[in-house]
Amino acid sequence: MKYIFYILSICVLFFYLNFKLNPKKNITIDKLNEQIKLNTDLNTKKNYSDKYFENFYIKFNKKGTYYNINNDMLISNKLFNLYKNEYVYIINKYFTKNHLNGLKEITISNSVSFNNGIRGQNLSINEDSYILMASLNNDNSILIHELLHTVQHNHIKLFNKKYKYKWLKINKYVSEYAMTNIYEDFAETGTKYLLHDTLIYNPKFKLFKKFFYETSK
Ligand SMILES: [Zn+2]
Repeated sequence: MKYIFYILSICVLFFYLNFKLNPKKNITIDKLNEQIKLNTDLNTKKNYSDKYFENFYIKFNKKGTYYNINNDMLISNKLFNLYKNEYVYIINKYFTKNHLNGLKEITISNSVSFNNGIRGQNLSINEDSYILMASLNNDNSILIHELLHTVQHNHIKLFNKKYKYKWLKINKYVSEYAMTNIYEDFAETGTKYLLHDTLIYNPKFKLFKKFFYETSK
C-alpha cells in the first residue's frame, strides 16, 4: 500500500511538473522534494555540453532536466554556442565559485519570453538550482537576476541570520517587481548594483554589497 502511494505520488508530481514547468506557462514553483530529483536524474544525459569554471562546472543545455522545452523553443547549435559563450563571460565577470555552488544547469531556449512576459526562471530543489533562459531578448540583466536567486538560495541561512532583518526594515525598492517578495527584491537590487545602475540610491545596495562579498569565498 505504501509502495502504491509512493508510485502514485511520483506520477502526480511528474504530471504537475510537466504541466507547471512548461515554459509557455507561468512557473512559480520554488521547492520540490528529493524524490523528484532522484527520479529525474535519470533524465539528464541529453543534449548538453559542460563548461568548467575554476574547479566547478555548470551544464549548459537545450533541454533542461526540469523544464519541458517544446520543439519550437529548441535553439539552434549556432545560437546555443553564442549564448553559452556570453553567459560564461557574465558568470566569470561577476560571480565566484562559492557564489554559485548550487547551480547545476542553465537551459538556453529559443524564445524572447515565456508566458506573462517572464524571461528567466530559477528552480531550486534542495541545494541545487536550475536556470531557464528565454535567450533571444539579449538582455544580460535577466541572467544576472536569475544567478542572484542561486546566490541567495545557497546562502539563505547567512542571509536570514545577518541580513534579513535589516533588509526588511528598508521600505524602498529598486523596481515594482522587487516588491513581489524578498527574493525578487534581492535579485532586482543585486542586478542594479552589479550593473552599476545605482543612480537612484537605495540603502539596500550597501547590504547587498556586504552579503555578496561575504558569500564570494
Ligand atoms: Zn526572479
